[in-house]
Amino acid sequence: MARLTQADLIDLNHTFEERTPLELIQWTQEIFGERVAAISAMQQAGNVLCHMLSKIEKSSRVLFVDTGVLFEETLQTRDRIVSEYGIEVVTLEPNQTMAEQTAELGVLYLSVDGQKQCCDLRKTQPLLEIADQFDALIGSLRRSDGGQRAQCPILAVDPQANCLRINPLVNMNTEQLQAYIAENKVITNPLHEQGYPTIGCNRCTTPVMPEEPKRAGRWRHLGPWSVYCGINPTDLDPEHSPAIELDQDLIDRILGRETDFMI
Ligand code: SF4
Repeated sequence: MARLTQADLIDLNHTFEERTPLELIQWTQEIFGERVAAISAMQQAGNVLCHMLSKIEKSSRVLFVDTGVLFEETLQTRDRIVSEYGIEVVTLEPNQTMAEQTAELGVLYLSVDGQKQCCDLRKTQPLLEIADQFDALIGSLRRSDGGQRAQCPILAVDPQANCLRINPLVNMNTEQLQAYIAENKVITNPLHEQGYPTIGCNRCTTPVMPEEPKRAGRWRHLGPWSVYCGINPTDLDPEHSPAIELDQDLIDRILGRETDFMI
């Protein structure tokens, strides 16, 4: 195994700024083959990603984390995506139900530290349990969502899952996203029309007033200290971003290096 650092990706990230989302998805599939999956929480951008995958001849699997306390509308959106787009969606679940977790650990989501633990147990750990099946995960983060995501790179190392994260939609602004949804009649979660710009667990998501920031409804009860769940490593403190370990051959292919097999 060899190390691939975020710094190794600087030139490639620069080059990739010119590529379209579809080109980036196709590059990912060419490089990683079966060892790539997409992740969608069945929100708008994730559904656009699912729609794009459904248009590609050989689609990638989509991973969806069901925390056990999602809105019914989110689960129905997932089911429509599966039946109407014909893509494979793998639903991941935490080891405990929310009732079991609460009996053991209390109501975690009522404190800032507890929220981190709850999101880790119910979102991140289910993904990490199958992460060794993949060298790359395609996400749907967009820079125009602002906050920590305003600086999101197209390619990012994910040391926890030891894989590369690819964000092909980073340069799609909100107008472009809405235009894509309208033009392609993308399936969307009906809660978006009911005052929820972003949608997570039913315990921690509220509607948002028109003048509020889009993510104001996420962990509103915890004040401004909880903004992200942590399943996307680029949402975390950038100082946490060291390196992952992959086969040297695969790293050479990612970075477009010529391999001299005669050496
Ligand atoms: S969003 Fe709330 S309920 Fe869902 S996993 Fe995170 S803390 Fe737990």
